[in-house]
Amino acid sequence: MSAKRQMAAYPLELSTEEMRHLVDAAMDEIVQHITTLPEQPSFDVDGAADVARSLKESLPEVGTELEASLKILFARAAPKSFNTAGPGYLAYIPGGGVFHAAVADLIADSINRYVGVWLAAPALSQLETNVVAWFAEIVGYPASARGILSSGGSLANFSAFVVARRERLGEDFLHGTIYVSDQIHHSVAKAAMLAGFPDRAVRVIPSDDHFRIRLDALRSAVENDRREGREPFLLVGSAGTTNTGAVDDLEAMADIARDERLWLHADAAYGGFFMMTDRGRVAMRGLERADSITLDPHKGLFLPYGTGSLLVRDGAALKRAHELDAEYLPAMRDDDEFVDFCQYSPELSRPFRGLRVWLPFRLLGAQAFREQLNEKLDLCEWATERLREIPGIEIVAPPQLSVVAFRLAGVDLSQEDRNVLNRQFLEKINARRRVYLTATTVAGDFILRICVLSFRTHMDRMEQGIEDISSAATELQF
Ligand SMILES: *Cc1c(COP(=O)(O)O)cnc(C)c1O
Repeated sequence: MSAKRQMAAYPLELSTEEMRHLVDAAMDEIVQHITTLPEQPSFDVDGAADVARSLKESLPEVGTELEASLKILFARAAPKSFNTAGPGYLAYIPGGGVFHAAVADLIADSINRYVGVWLAAPALSQLETNVVAWFAEIVGYPASARGILSSGGSLANFSAFVVARRERLGEDFLHGTIYVSDQIHHSVAKAAMLAGFPDRAVRVIPSDDHFRIRLDALRSAVENDRREGREPFLLVGSAGTTNTGAVDDLEAMADIARDERLWLHADAAYGGFFMMTDRGRVAMRGLERADSITLDPHKGLFLPYGTGSLLVRDGAALKRAHELDAEYLPAMRDDDEFVDFCQYSPELSRPFRGLRVWLPFRLLGAQAFREQLNEKLDLCEWATERLREIPGIEIVAPPQLSVVAFRLAGVDLSQEDRNVLNRQFLEKINARRRVYLTATTVAGDFILRICVLSFRTHMDRMEQGIEDISSAATELQF
């Protein structure tokens, strides 16, 4: 049989030329897409439902040319979206998508080694262990810390709940109570739900003028629950809320957790990597005293979506909550030196996520990330100063990290009318499609927010954003 006939017989096994063709053709589209990001609209979902509908298809029985699929992806599907990778994306918590990580994924997927079990790829597992250790170093954790890379912050929060539950309550946990502020990310409530806690187990504590958990209210809630026979066991702090970027007083929360014997979990999905900066370390003072910390490399490290992380200060606790043997698995490490990731996480088979962090850090150095994060802090401060100069704008939450929340104050308006005004304000700003902002609601007030966290956002785009905000404010008020 000729080589060519053989290839046709086994189409899943590509020749050298076919591999190169696949990557080159995809690469042409990728380069075109990435280099034009600044000119692409900040979002475009006009008619997106129709496009989605037009793409419904039945299981293809036979293969088709690559070009047709690339065309669907790049010409039809991708343009109809929020441009989450573009410089104008100042919405929610921006992600990133550093290309180095995409290349790492290509390598990881191509070699397809197994990193769930140490023995299957000890050296590759070590690279992921290094990444976890770097994260631990960034947040100021001791050498006893262990951690995992998850698919995102939500699952990291979930695993943290499972660890805290096991460490503090054991099997009979329904009387345990959990304390969060009214600004907490909803994935924390979801973590409680998934970890088996009834709604009544979660105490929502009011926040103060700076959107930080009120410590007096927290203390009295804990006291009250104890008096009524419940078992306070878990306190969750925010190191950067999604609403306004607020950082709870983590130092004070750590004191309360110590005095009340609570597990302190810090949701640092948004803010955590600012620990690489001086300002971030000041804002998040006390973070290293938390028993566990959620980080989201696909936010603060600018990685493509799909990487979160949970760190646990006493790594043995993380292991106790996840280790389980099976006859068909190789023997697991029972020493401290090496890690079987399946003994520390809910997953067994999984992608080699470590590489998408390891390679960018190796290629760029921590310094490059630190500079980026500092630039985001600067840009947010700059934007806040400019917003203050725009007549009618009120700063609702000045930046604690890289989020600023604001609105049109609207003299003598009822809350309802002011909210209507601010909805129009948001629409007008976004209509230019140079930036994309989103809003949130605090205490019934509709407020706009800017979150600067894309590695592609620089001063030029911020200036455009301020121009658009300023002219929208003028149009609506005068
Ligand atoms: C994004 C975010 C989460 C959830 O993380 P995902 O990666 O989206 O699952 C949790 N907490 C905070 C504060 C966040 O910003």
